[in-house]
This record gives sequence, C-alpha cells and structure tokens, in this order.
Amino acid sequence: MLTLEELASLAKKHGLDFLAITDHNQMVSPAVLARIPGITLIPGVEWTHYRGHANFLGLAKPYDEPFFTNTDEDMQARFQSARDRGALIVINHPQDDSCGFQFDLTKLPFDAIEIWNGPMRESNLRAIGLWHQMLAAGRKMPAVGGSDFHRENLFQILGGPAWAFMPGRMHPMISWLRYAQGRVLSPSPPMAPRWISPVVRLLWAVQPPGKRA
Ligand SMILES: [Zn+2]
Repeated sequence: MLTLEELASLAKKHGLDFLAITDHNQMVSPAVLARIPGITLIPGVEWTHYRGHANFLGLAKPYDEPFFTNTDEDMQARFQSARDRGALIVINHPQDDSCGFQFDLTKLPFDAIEIWNGPMRESNLRAIGLWHQMLAAGRKMPAVGGSDFHRENLFQILGGPAWAFMPGRMHPMISWLRYAQGRVLSPSPPMAPRWISPVVRLLWAVQPPGKRA
C-alpha cells in the first residue's frame, strides 16, 4: 500500500504532470492531498456500480446521496449532480469483461470515454469500437486512456496509458484542468502538459473533442 506522498513521487518518476485520485466510491478531500512540487493531484471518485464505473473528477463531493442506486433514475441523478457541480465525467472501461458499462450512454451527461484501460486487452479494442460507433452516430466524444493503477505489478504501471495533450492547442480539457486547479488545488504550480502516451496522442489527434454537452 502506498501513501499519497509515495504515490505522488511515483507519478513524478513516471513523468506525469498530474494524477487523479479516484478510489472506488470513496471521495477524497482536496485538503488531504499531498502538496508535492511539480505534480498536481486531482481529487475524484470512481463511482462504482455492478453495472458500470465512471470517474467524477475535480471535486470533493460530486453527490450527497449514497453511491448505490436501484433505478436508472437514481443513477442518472448521480451523474446530473456531478455535472451540475462541475465534475469532469469519464465513462471507465466500458467494455470490460467483468465491469463493463451497461447503462444507456445516450441518457447520461459525460465528457469523455475511456477507450484504453491498463495493458493490452481485447476489451480495449471493443471500447475503441464503441467509441467509433458513437462518432459514426454523430456524438463527438473525447477519448482517454487510464492506467487504473491499484498497485505495481508486471502489467499495470502508473501512467500507462495516460492522457496527453496537443501542444500549441488550447484543449478544452486543459482549460478544465486549470479550472480545477484554481478551484480546489490552489496554490499550485502551473500546468505543464507533456506527451506521455503515443497511443492516446494519436487518438486525440484523430478526434479533437467537441464542446461539452
Ligand atoms: Zn473501474
């Protein structure tokens, strides 16, 4: 088990500029996040339901109610609450074999879809297919990768893959990260986006994100 300080140091070692802390159904207060020069820790929570997982990033408390929901309406209310409070919402590993996303994506507000989670797996290829279907249907959606890091092992490394941004372009997500920094993490060092993952970089280049829905 790593402490927050150890985790932040490891992220720096892997060349990351920022790291989102998203425990399962466990919110984290910005006040307890480590202050380590050169890296920004972003509070968040991985809303974890047996029918799907989603990251609500950038704030301490995206919803007031318990995480569990018994109806689609309850679930939609959690997402809407997170959206209303300014969270960046990411649908996680939507095609995962054991915890894929089974809710109706057309009825939810979200900002990005994770098309690559951790190491090479067939479920990631299916997630790319799902993203492709969304684009073909006219729903422009940023794609991201995530390491889903729980602990160090042979196949799962921190920042593999990670988000990367096109230099010289004012990316909506960079705007959002700066906004999140200023709101919950100030004072903090300025964001210095850098290249991390060629795979994600290529996908970002193919599909620059549209406006937030
Ligand atoms: Zn998950």
